[in-house]
Amino acid sequence: MSLKKLLLLLIIVALFISAFAFDLTQYLSLDVLKEKQQQLNQLFVDYPFQVFAIYFVVYVASTALSLPGATILTLGAGAIFGLGWGLLLASFAASLGAFLAFLSARFILHDWVQEKFGERLTAINRGMERDGAFYLLSLRLVPLFPFFVINLVMGLTKIKAWTFYWVSQVGMLLGTAVYVNAGTQLAQISSLGDVISADLIGAFVLLGIFPLIAKAVLAFVKRRKAFKGYKKPKSFDNNLVVIGAGSAGLVSAYIAATVKAKVTLVEKHKMGGDCLNTGCVPSKALLHVAELAHNARNASSAGVHVGEVSVDFKQVMQQVKSVIKEIEPHDSVERYTNLGVNVEQGDARIVSPWEVEVTSNGETKRITTRSIIIATGAKPLVPNFEGLDKVDYLTSDTLWELDELPKRLLVLGGGPIGCELSQAFQRLGSQVTQVEMAERLMGPEDADTVELLTQRLTAEGIDIKLNHKALRFEQHNGESVLVAEQTVDNESVDNQNVDQSKDVEIPFDKVLIALGRQPNITGFGLEELGVQTNKTVSTNELLQTNFPNIYACGDVAGPYQLTHVASHQAWYASVNALFDPFKTFRADYSVIPWVTYTSPQVANVGLTEQQAKKADKPYEVTEYDIGELDRAIADDSAYGRVKVLTKPGKDELLGVNIVGPQAGELLAEYVLAMKHGIGLNKILGTIHSYPTLAEANKYVAGEWKRANAPQKLLTWVETFHRWRRG
Ligand SMILES: Cc1cc2nc3c(=O)[nH]c(=O)nc-3n(C[C@H](O)[C@H](O)[C@H](O)COP(=O)(O)OP(=O)(O)OC[C@H]3O[C@@H](n4cnc5c(N)ncnc54)[C@H](O)[C@@H]3O)c2cc1C
Repeated sequence: MSLKKLLLLLIIVALFISAFAFDLTQYLSLDVLKEKQQQLNQLFVDYPFQVFAIYFVVYVASTALSLPGATILTLGAGAIFGLGWGLLLASFAASLGAFLAFLSARFILHDWVQEKFGERLTAINRGMERDGAFYLLSLRLVPLFPFFVINLVMGLTKIKAWTFYWVSQVGMLLGTAVYVNAGTQLAQISSLGDVISADLIGAFVLLGIFPLIAKAVLAFVKRRKAFKGYKKPKSFDNNLVVIGAGSAGLVSAYIAATVKAKVTLVEKHKMGGDCLNTGCVPSKALLHVAELAHNARNASSAGVHVGEVSVDFKQVMQQVKSVIKEIEPHDSVERYTNLGVNVEQGDARIVSPWEVEVTSNGETKRITTRSIIIATGAKPLVPNFEGLDKVDYLTSDTLWELDELPKRLLVLGGGPIGCELSQAFQRLGSQVTQVEMAERLMGPEDADTVELLTQRLTAEGIDIKLNHKALRFEQHNGESVLVAEQTVDNESVDNQNVDQSKDVEIPFDKVLIALGRQPNITGFGLEELGVQTNKTVSTNELLQTNFPNIYACGDVAGPYQLTHVASHQAWYASVNALFDPFKTFRADYSVIPWVTYTSPQVANVGLTEQQAKKADKPYEVTEYDIGELDRAIADDSAYGRVKVLTKPGKDELLGVNIVGPQAGELLAEYVLAMKHGIGLNKILGTIHSYPTLAEANKYVAGEWKRANAPQKLLTWVETFHRWRRG
């Protein structure tokens, strides 16, 4: 705890104890108030402003210090100042005092509480940010909840200070009025129980739950409004219609069929979506073949001579297709039909909140459904560059039809897809030039991570052009050329650091556009229906759109464009679509791993260092150099490192980044650890087979343990050993 916080805490505790030590609280009793009423009234007549001001200060101070007696002070306000002035004084003094107590609790304890119980408080924090005003209003309206407890507890949550103030002011007004009014007839009150009868408390409780009921009604009305103008069918053909049979759609349909719902899955193109046909599967198959070529070329350094390595690109692409073929049955119409899913091959269009039209071979049929899941994925983003129409460009959708290895391949984009495909083509024999407008590849990764990867890609011959912004495409004597604006940092001109830029020409035979992916949100009825979108389909934490029975998951919903996230979301979307309003689940993104399958691989879970910095999250870094690892040395792949972020002085993982061979596989241990709250001590205490790459995880835990060794204890142990040696 910082000195300032400690000081404030000591002052508050000292004042609190003094109030009892000097028996000041004896004055905050009904008997004393009644006894002194005459005197106080006379004082008010003689010194109206002074008495008003002193009473206000005493009220604020006692509330701020959470002393018992607010009720007596409120009665006193009525007894001395009358209903109008009494209410004004008590209302503002109570709110101000409560606010000071709230601020003190927040200043002294909020960070500590949030840090200690942060993860467990996530749901409460989210709820407070969203609905805090409603909860507080309910608590304030019911005078049964201890006033001072509400002040202190709210200070520990993430409710906004201003919200706390105004809701307290409004919420306490009615209760305060009742007590101030009672104070105007103080003589008739013999105990505090006389002020509020059981009936009145009942009325307050009803009033207290009113904001929550009002909120539920508002949400209901909002939901009904979305359906306005549409006629709900009396019965439905399906419980669920899923649009799109990619990773998200397949898992959604699978879950629905498993829980015995009637589900129709509509796919307009290929079952399996991007991942199977144009994404993860073909790209990993291509990377594998490229690695074979790379290893064959480098085998001679270990004494294995295979002669000149040549790549038959047609056969390579055949191999990629045969991998897809082999996996295809997992996502096939037959498999899903056998699982109990009704699979429709056709173009789906949502025509009402409960109806989907499916068009196939010129025929359209309409199916009704209680709920819909939009899982239409994303497509490559292709900006409208001047001259692009004259270039036979490639994207991750069309690349797989290539049957000739481009001699000079230009890859536009330095993200994971751009890096993976650049390396694959370079290893297969193309001369790859990779163009990125930022100052480094893979922007969301830490700078040192990117440095390790960039060194390897460059060493393999990829010409990486950073700070190059693609402008336009031109044709020069039958040759395609990209004109890019190159920014040169920090040129010194007249002693001033300025960014210089110049246009450069980059010739190529083929260009692959890998500039990101844009969600498929148009052309199937969302605009006409009024489903809200903002680049992706907009959803809440239940993955529900503004239509309560229409959900979205996968790339079309974001925020991550990964197969395992699409499947993860699909669970939430399908369960919520089928069981709302009886049971719903909020999507949990707390432990999301992501891997780039370059060589070396780059694998992450939790926070990267730059994310931790940006979020102002304190962290400690521990690293282990894979160059030192026996197995990596034996495999001639001793390159990279494991970087672990932990809470300072605590065995709690915040994030892990691995650059190295099989980094994606090594990461699995940390994903499990983070998901289930396991720390580095447990990883260190787990036997890892020798010699494996996974030992790197144990060694980094060892490094962390050494850095966090209890120095005092070790000094004692040293003394103990000295003593034993005699
Ligand atoms: C080159 C590349 C490599 C990748 N590598 C990885 C990786 O290694 N790991 C990883 O996790 N992710 C990877 N991804 C991302 C991954 O492929 C996607 O995140 C994943 O496929 C998203 O699944 P989805 O179900 O949301 O969408 P999709 O797989 O795109 O499926 C959407 C489906 O909806 C269909 N559809 C669209 N509109 C309609 C309509 N109106 N009617 C009927 N059907 C419709 C489409 O035809 C499509 O089949 C990669 C992507 C690419 C491009």
